[in-house]
Amino acid sequence: IGMTFSGWRWLNLQEYQSKKLMQESGVTVQRFYVADNPPDALQAAKRLNAKEIVLKAQILAGGRGKGVFNSGLKGGVHLTKDPSVVGELASKMLGYSLTTKQTPKEGVEVKMVMVAEALDITRETYFAILMDRACNGPVMVGSPQGGMDIEEVADKSPELIFKEVIDIFEGVRDDQALRMAANLGFKGPLERQAADQIMRLYDLFLKVDATQVEVNPLGETPEGQVVCFDAKISFDDNAEFRQKAVFALDDMSESDPTETEAAKWDLKYIGLDGNIACFVNGAGLAMATCDIIDLHGGKPANFLDLGGGVKEKQVYEAFKLLTADPKVEAILVNIFGGIVNCAIIANGITKACRELELKVPLVVRLEGTNVQEAKRILSESGLPIVAANDLDDAAKKAVAAITRK
Ligand code: ADP
Ligand code: MG
Repeated sequence: IGMTFSGWRWLNLQEYQSKKLMQESGVTVQRFYVADNPPDALQAAKRLNAKEIVLKAQILAGGRGKGVFNSGLKGGVHLTKDPSVVGELASKMLGYSLTTKQTPKEGVEVKMVMVAEALDITRETYFAILMDRACNGPVMVGSPQGGMDIEEVADKSPELIFKEVIDIFEGVRDDQALRMAANLGFKGPLERQAADQIMRLYDLFLKVDATQVEVNPLGETPEGQVVCFDAKISFDDNAEFRQKAVFALDDMSESDPTETEAAKWDLKYIGLDGNIACFVNGAGLAMATCDIIDLHGGKPANFLDLGGGVKEKQVYEAFKLLTADPKVEAILVNIFGGIVNCAIIANGITKACRELELKVPLVVRLEGTNVQEAKRILSESGLPIVAANDLDDAAKKAVAAITRK
């Protein structure tokens, strides 16, 4: 809570996928099935043979409980004692968009529902493990007041949020797990049970290279069971090479299509809402470029980070992505060639300009390795490229190019 990895994409899985991983680690979750059509949902409900059933729309955003579908149905999480209504309910979820506090206004289309055994919940707590820069490693965060309004708790009653810093070499110590369990308000034998769940969640966190495992609610039942009722796991993209099975679960269906296309070319794309496209190398330079555009009265439309070992083809693809956005009225290239060879960028730019018949003004600032050669390529191209001397100059010229139109 209150900590986001803004910018780069981290793999997120659907709740049902996360719960499968939890089950495999011995974490307690309810029995469930998934379905992508109403008849299957109905059948699953009958097969569960449970006292009560909970039907949950699967989208990556939270706040589903209080969400609304564009079918008119209210609530992305429904409880019922009558399995025969599950098909009907599912038909108002599947294929419709669910809007919650955490989704865009138009919502996210539901392609899958989870049909689970509902359990009575006597108390809802919040528990998460995440990588925290300030702690140089994992930290556990918990609150005895979990459930649907944890953000509000963090805001209004920060004293009800408890933290335990984990030594990654040592792991979660027993006394830490027990203290967290007590802080979450688990009493008597439930304290030991909750501490065990916490330890298992930490094992899972390490095993799958997660950046975050969030359980809200981690609840208790009248029968005296500690259960993970909701699950959100985010994964470290840098660990993809050794987490093949996890990353294979990614269906990309909720990713921004431009980001997905950019990722194919090893480019990082972030959409913003202005009109100047920024083509940069390195996240730091991206931030600085956005700031300086802002300072000169402009607004970035996006930024595309091309990272290190660049190829001409990548530059071309980058331009294709940038110019495909109808909001873009000017392009600013700001590349600092340390690892990157500026001549490769220059060749990529001229090729892209010609083949894509670029229609918007292009301002280029290149600096570093082989920059003289790069400048020669650009000026001899005969293309209407505006050369800039430094970042400030570049931002000024990009803003001016739009204002002049
Ligand atoms: P979200 O966080 O997206 O709103 P949750 O999975 O946390 O979705 O569900 C919202 C609420 O629905 C929970 O806080 C809980 O009160 C209730 N709920 C969820 N799963 C169950 C279940 N298996 N049994 C009973 N109630 C549940
Ligand atoms: Mg929840």
